[in-house]
Amino acid sequence: MATAVLPDVTERLRSLVGIDGVLCDPSDRFVYGRDASLFQRAEPRCVVSPKSTAEVQEAVKLCIAEKLPMVARGAGTGRFGSALSDGGVVFSTARMREIIEVNEAECFALVQSGMALDQLNWHLKSSGLVFAPDPLSSASCTVGGCIAANASGPRSLKYGDTRANLLGLEMVTWDGRLVRLGKPAEDDADAALMPQIVGGEGRLGIVTRAWLKLVRPPAAREMQVAFFGSLREAVETGRAVLQSPVSVCAVELLDRTVIESLESMFHCRFPKLVQAMLLVEFEGTAEKLAEDSELLRCLSKQLGAREIRQPKQAGDNRTFWAWRLRALPALCRFANTCWLLNVRVPVDCLLAVATQIAAIAEAHSVPLAHIVHVGDGLLHPVLMFNAAVPDQMQRARTIVDEIDSLCTAVGASLRTERWPGEVKPAADRPGTIAVESTSEGPSN
Ligand SMILES: Cc1cc2nc3c(=O)[nH]c(=O)nc-3n(C[C@H](O)[C@H](O)[C@H](O)COP(=O)(O)OP(=O)(O)OC[C@H]3O[C@@H](n4cnc5c(N)ncnc54)[C@H](O)[C@@H]3O)c2cc1C
Repeated sequence: MATAVLPDVTERLRSLVGIDGVLCDPSDRFVYGRDASLFQRAEPRCVVSPKSTAEVQEAVKLCIAEKLPMVARGAGTGRFGSALSDGGVVFSTARMREIIEVNEAECFALVQSGMALDQLNWHLKSSGLVFAPDPLSSASCTVGGCIAANASGPRSLKYGDTRANLLGLEMVTWDGRLVRLGKPAEDDADAALMPQIVGGEGRLGIVTRAWLKLVRPPAAREMQVAFFGSLREAVETGRAVLQSPVSVCAVELLDRTVIESLESMFHCRFPKLVQAMLLVEFEGTAEKLAEDSELLRCLSKQLGAREIRQPKQAGDNRTFWAWRLRALPALCRFANTCWLLNVRVPVDCLLAVATQIAAIAEAHSVPLAHIVHVGDGLLHPVLMFNAAVPDQMQRARTIVDEIDSLCTAVGASLRTERWPGEVKPAADRPGTIAVESTSEGPSN
């Protein structure tokens, strides 16, 4: 069990970030030892919540001097345990939520990295601009967490992932230097670092501010939902939609297990005995929406849809999205543990891989559901079991091992959290990266 930092270190940290900015109580250390991963548990020595880049930099320097390992944390919605630190100091961005600038003419925003995505887009509402990345955790996940995870979401199909919507950033590295990359940089000396930072899970340092690209989506969006008698028909329709001229922004698929769970929980009145549902979201002018809607309906019918639902009244689009958003919560009602995996696979192999994964789970008698972002070839197999039962846990691990081997064989990739008990080391050691510091001091 990790001990708290020494009282004098606490006091010095407090003198840098304020009395409320350092949490050392066992209950706080317990809470910050968890995130949205299923199995990872840790106990940091303390949690530091600076309000500005300058405070971050000073606190990082103090931790370096005290040889305390550090890790960055946004909202803790990450599923891989990578915001946890056993025995280190958690740098939380919870008090760094300022919108510093919105430039409507040049379509960018400058924000502190603790800003939550929905909060930012709520603020932008009157401008008609949005920050497009839409992970389904957008109600709470932060700009910094999205950069570190290169988060994407259903609409990344059209608008791209976080990397595609990032213009620049400011970061304090774990060796205490301030770097600025992209838009704010006076020269591009550090540009090569960008790919390591975006998607780098905070290994190089803590992002403090970000320059975000804003886009102006068309005024209207609509959804169509089609139900199929087989997974094959649904996947083939999804692929056909992607190749069609429909102005599509998301193509999502839910399998029979998800459909039945949703039905049982929310009484959605889905058709009986269907194996998959495909949700397609598209956008454009009213005229284009009408055209696309008809085209989609024809495509789905041709490829075997048994029933198609189109919005008939205000609120229907929202209801359709709610089915997608509630997919995982609905599954969780029927299993003590729902282990969601990320399998990235070329869209052409989606069906084959999904089918083989289902066969692997069946061979080990563990129920499995599929939630699929058809649009960008991201498959979420969800294993449904009870992790508290050792035999079930062991079978789930075996399944994940076999899925991993399958992915290697077919050129797909599996991402999931590490095995229970294997927490990200309290690392992020200072001095491990080669970064040239900028000559400026922190500006915020
Ligand atoms: C219900 C649910 C739905 C989700 N849906 C999606 C989805 O559709 N697409 C998707 O991509 N992900 C999804 N996720 C995963 C997760 O929400 C995203 O990865 C999100 O970007 C994490 O943001 P966060 O602020 O919660 O980061 P945290 O969980 O706090 O941290 C995640 C990683 O980012 C690092 N980090 C955090 N802040 C900073 C910073 N300022 N500087 C440097 N590193 C930092 C941490 O060290 C850690 O490695 C989902 C999670 C949940 C629980």
